[in-house]
Amino acid sequence: MEAAQVVNSNGNADGDYQYEIISWFDSVSKNAAMVQTETLGQILHLNYGVEYLKKWFGDMKIQDMDACALESLYASLVPLASHADFEPFIQRIADGDTAPILTQQTITTLSLSSGTTEGRQKLLPFTRHSSQTTLQIYRLAAAYRSRVYPIREGGRILEFIYSSKRLKTKGGLTAGTATTHYYASEEFNIKQEKTKSFTCSPQEVIFGGDYKQSTYCHLLLGLLFWDEVELIASTFAYSIVQAFASFEEQWEEICSDIKDGTLSSRITLPRMRKAVLDIISPNPCLASQIEAICRDSKASNWYGIVPRLWPNAKYVYSIMTGSMQPYLKKLRHYAVSLPLVSADYGSTEGWIGVNLDPCLPPEDVTFAVIPTFSYFEFIPLYKKKQDLTSSTVGYREDEPVPLSQVKLGQEYELVLTTFTGLYRYRLGDVVEVAGFHNGTPKLNFIFRRELILTVNIDKNTENDLQLAVGRGSEVLSKYGGELVDFTSHAEVMHQPGHYMIYWEIKGEVEERVLGECCGVMDASFVDHGYVVSRRTNSIGPLELCIVETGTFNKVLDYFIGNGAALGQFKTPRCTNNHILLRILNLCTIKRFHSTAYN
Ligand code: AMP
Repeated sequence: MEAAQVVNSNGNADGDYQYEIISWFDSVSKNAAMVQTETLGQILHLNYGVEYLKKWFGDMKIQDMDACALESLYASLVPLASHADFEPFIQRIADGDTAPILTQQTITTLSLSSGTTEGRQKLLPFTRHSSQTTLQIYRLAAAYRSRVYPIREGGRILEFIYSSKRLKTKGGLTAGTATTHYYASEEFNIKQEKTKSFTCSPQEVIFGGDYKQSTYCHLLLGLLFWDEVELIASTFAYSIVQAFASFEEQWEEICSDIKDGTLSSRITLPRMRKAVLDIISPNPCLASQIEAICRDSKASNWYGIVPRLWPNAKYVYSIMTGSMQPYLKKLRHYAVSLPLVSADYGSTEGWIGVNLDPCLPPEDVTFAVIPTFSYFEFIPLYKKKQDLTSSTVGYREDEPVPLSQVKLGQEYELVLTTFTGLYRYRLGDVVEVAGFHNGTPKLNFIFRRELILTVNIDKNTENDLQLAVGRGSEVLSKYGGELVDFTSHAEVMHQPGHYMIYWEIKGEVEERVLGECCGVMDASFVDHGYVVSRRTNSIGPLELCIVETGTFNKVLDYFIGNGAALGQFKTPRCTNNHILLRILNLCTIKRFHSTAYN
């Protein structure tokens, strides 16, 4: 029942393989409670005696213990922890301490979380197990997808994937984003062979290290292989929207390269140039077909461009939930008739759940927890009735429960114990149990737990902000405008403090409309602390700052320059970062103050 068992099985026909992985998941999900107990036992036995566990278990001999007894002992002795608690241990590993600190197996690779939700990248252990689970969840999800949207064997995937720079830590360990490690792993190649679907771009494009050059080549090669492309994919939906925004600007150059078999001078990286030039050859006929489609599509603001350019594509596949939801509208605009299939739920810390219902719209997607990947616990969360003094974002917490005890409709914060050395680690994500697949819960991703906007007694999360911005942008679209991206900041340097929301928009909209959007957003924060403070003016009017076109590309460039990867990038929805605020304020061209509480 272990991950590696499925990963290593080979030699079967594809249909057999799909049947095999689905029946494997049926079996582990039917026995999810027992599998979880066993998974915890495996993690603790593998890492018996490591420094972190010794702190809590002392010299207790856990090897001879019954698995169920060990599960209760674990929850009673080992405390819940956050990344901050693990940071000193991970830092020692990064600095070259090879003692068994978190795991018995020496850690040689560290992952950088995208950090764009919190504004700071976290270092986390990465092992072979991490790549194996990535491959396994990918294949499991692919097996479910192929039941609804079968794809042709030997076809191609136009994948907007990017590796980050890989750095060496002081102790000589390799550090990079988890996706970067995966693209460099054997498992990435196994995935292509096993699923018989090949990415359009060679490694030199994925690993180029300059996302603008990589995007250009992904698009160029995707068009060159247009009739073989079976699906369009990325890790997070943002990358697809970003790629098509570049396409709107660069299509003529791309067509000219296809026509002549040349490569634009914007591709300066020698290895990337050589790899792409080795693949392309002049194709004037294709170039003129693409040109005709583009000219026509441009007139309709690129509506439905994806299925027009890739008529054999069966669907678009990417994470579209959580902080990616604001990009859904644009994605639908580009994809129109092509189904949008929301990808699985995971984090740099570990994979969590798989989407078993690919035909559901992204808004309704749930993720079935894979009980062999980690040991999962769930902290029940109950919404408080307007307790203005608590610091826990309007929730009362109860004792964590194991997977077998979660209840339908209940919200929880996820806690992970992983094979990579994280023990009772609070992930910070809030999920709701939306159903069950056999004995394993199907989770609805709600939002990240952190409070992002707060001036005094008000508490607003990313989700609250997303809802308010959603309402404001409905007004904007009614008048023909389009919200490209947004972020926010709680300004507390001047009294009274107030919320600032930065919008990049497309289209001409009257100032009166933008003023209305600003007021609608202010009135949409329904958190009691906010409403009371606004009424008493202890929080000032919400300020809407309109930034010039291209500002959020500058934000992206700033993060990429600091080691983030486009593939894992999430626009920070709230920031206190001085450099970022300087970029945003310098680019602000109009400001509006809400009159909602006048
Ligand atoms: P990272 O910093 O790249 O490790 O980001 C991991 C975080 O991204 C998770 O903790 C979630 O908050 C979010 N995330 C990952 N997958 C999904 C998903 N399918 N739906 C919504 N949010 C997700």
